[in-house]
Amino acid sequence: MAAPPLRALRTPCFMAGFPRAAVASGAAAVTRRLADNRKGRPELLPAAGWFGRTGREDPTGRADAKGWGVVLRVVLLGTAASGGFPRWNCACVRCDAARDGKLPARGPECAAVTGNSRDWWLLNASPDIRAQLTAAPALWPGPRHTPVRGVLLTDAEPDHVAGLAVLRDTTRLKTYAAPPVLAALATARAGLDRHAPWEWADSLTEGGFVLAGGLVVTAHPVPGKPPAYVPGRSSDRRWVTVYRIEDLATGRVFVYAPRVSSWSALLENLVADADGVVLDGTHFAADETGDTGRHLPVSGPAGSLTALARHPGVRRIYTHLADSNPLLDPTSTARAQVSETGAEVLPDGTEFAL
Ligand SMILES: [Zn+2]
Repeated sequence: MAAPPLRALRTPCFMAGFPRAAVASGAAAVTRRLADNRKGRPELLPAAGWFGRTGREDPTGRADAKGWGVVLRVVLLGTAASGGFPRWNCACVRCDAARDGKLPARGPECAAVTGNSRDWWLLNASPDIRAQLTAAPALWPGPRHTPVRGVLLTDAEPDHVAGLAVLRDTTRLKTYAAPPVLAALATARAGLDRHAPWEWADSLTEGGFVLAGGLVVTAHPVPGKPPAYVPGRSSDRRWVTVYRIEDLATGRVFVYAPRVSSWSALLENLVADADGVVLDGTHFAADETGDTGRHLPVSGPAGSLTALARHPGVRRIYTHLADSNPLLDPTSTARAQVSETGAEVLPDGTEFAL
């Protein structure tokens, strides 16, 4: 597969390639900010804060106080694989340890990202999304608004889409997903739209798309199977996607890849160009469970840790940890091995800026 021209996206001329409607829906202000930054106005850079300098109202009332103006921020809402950790019906040694409070519990994989601390976008919507949002102050609603603007889905797995039902009474949410994922969710979408009309968009639209808050997103299909609830066989190669999210104001790039079955030239290029990546860490070893091939293992010569070691300047974080994964134990040799390379395993609720 040919590598996409990622570097080209870091220049202002990329705007020409975006759909007119997407550009019109807020990109004008973003372009002005970008132009201002390029004139070297330090007051518009992250450390100075955005809202206080411009006098624009922050509906959450918290962004400026934290000094988080125009920084690309990410919150890890959940970091466990399907079922969470501990899983409700599992009595393995690690799930038992988590129930006993000896290992940190984790919710199903899910995250959120923003470019302006005012407009937040969920990255997948786990069945625990209510608790995950409640535990994340940056995403709390203000007097009139929720800062959650929509959802970017990487696939149609139940643990990534079930949370949409929890969000059902919110108006004007915009959800992006690849065409087969949108088709698989057709019945659910029709039901959700009867609660409150949402906008559903193709994440693979040519040229990518612009999100409120000044984020430019491109979605990249990677090998992956449809979820079990989709009947029949599918030859569609767009069931799973990786997102590249660039903050227009700072040029910082975040790659979100919670489900990856193999390392590829595409991933290599995406990570090489990024400032931070959240990557599939479901299994530490390839033979950890009988479920081989669905997830790229962390360890081993073909594992992701070897690949990530080539990018020491990138913040590298593992997510989607299965209960079979020794990385769940902070005292494990597996965790030490990951830490040695500079990669990270972080608890739910961790927030970081790029
Ligand atoms: Zn277990």
